[in-house]
Amino acid sequence: VVSTPSRIAEELLRHRRILIVSHVDPDGDTIGSALGLAWALRSLGREVLMGCDDPVPEEAAALPGADEFSSSPPQDVDAIVAVDASDERRMGSLFRPSAERGGPLIVIDHHITNGGYGDLNLVMDTSATAEIVLLVVDALGVSLDATIARCLLTGVVTDTQGFRTASTTANSLTVAQRLMAAGADLVQISNQAFNRRSLSMLSLWGRALTAAEMRSGVLWAELPLAWLPQGNSDGQVGSGLANLLNTVREARVSALFTEQDDGLIDVSIRAKPGYDVSGVALAFGGGGHAGAAGCQVKGSLAGVREAVVDALTRLVNTQG
Ligand code: AMP
Ligand code: MN
Ligand code: MN
Repeated sequence: VVSTPSRIAEELLRHRRILIVSHVDPDGDTIGSALGLAWALRSLGREVLMGCDDPVPEEAAALPGADEFSSSPPQDVDAIVAVDASDERRMGSLFRPSAERGGPLIVIDHHITNGGYGDLNLVMDTSATAEIVLLVVDALGVSLDATIARCLLTGVVTDTQGFRTASTTANSLTVAQRLMAAGADLVQISNQAFNRRSLSMLSLWGRALTAAEMRSGVLWAELPLAWLPQGNSDGQVGSGLANLLNTVREARVSALFTEQDDGLIDVSIRAKPGYDVSGVALAFGGGGHAGAAGCQVKGSLAGVREAVVDALTRLVNTQG
């Protein structure tokens, strides 16, 4: 069912104990959106639990409540809210089929590939899920405080890469203006998001960049498992490098292939404005946005790379 912010607010207010779930391999938008909504609901006396299958990334680690995310939160909740998760698999082990849920699954998301897997779905084409959460916070009648504002601005800043992606709109800036006026510190948030890389990660990027290849507008690089530090089980290292690849002038689309320790290849895809790579990610079982999409594909590094680069080459030839 397609919903509205006021309908979502009405539904949330019916429940006392609410679980908010962020997507696997989380980013600043899914964590900031979850926490912004959590603090708003808590100000209304609701009990809110936070769930996520993977650790909170550096860009959102300083947010109030960031230490509360658990991969095994209590099951006895009245409602579950998924934020920034384009399909149920993005909820990881925290997804429960409707028969096993005590209450509704409410989906708040901004991915164009979202098919509406919740009982209530608030899916809008915004730069960040945090923009939609702000509409829900308004509909709840909660007035913005500095904590909510800081969480939500983290979502907008990280998903727009500091208001630079093709998904950035005038409303992204209007929202940011409101959040700053409510006390969110843009400089601190941007610094936390973009200026806290480790030197060892940059060295790893250097190694991948040295071996990067480009053919007819498609640029790609690889991170084989043997290069990765122990315990890097997801694409955490990859998102920043994928963004960097996309800064190459001649690259129309770019892809980063990261070998995971579970037999899957994490693929991070980026595109210059004017191209839409979400369909390619969707075709490989993932999803995303026009300019940034991804998937996790079973296979060898070389095999997956060949198939995805092929699809991207065809896309550049047709959309170009
Ligand atoms: P990333 O390359 O991991 O930074 O992801 C870029 C975009 O693709 C984000 O909007 C993700 O939510 C989306 N994305 C990545 N992997 C998947 C997936 N397996 N399913 C759906 N969306 C994905
Ligand atoms: Mn996200
Ligand atoms: Mn997002």
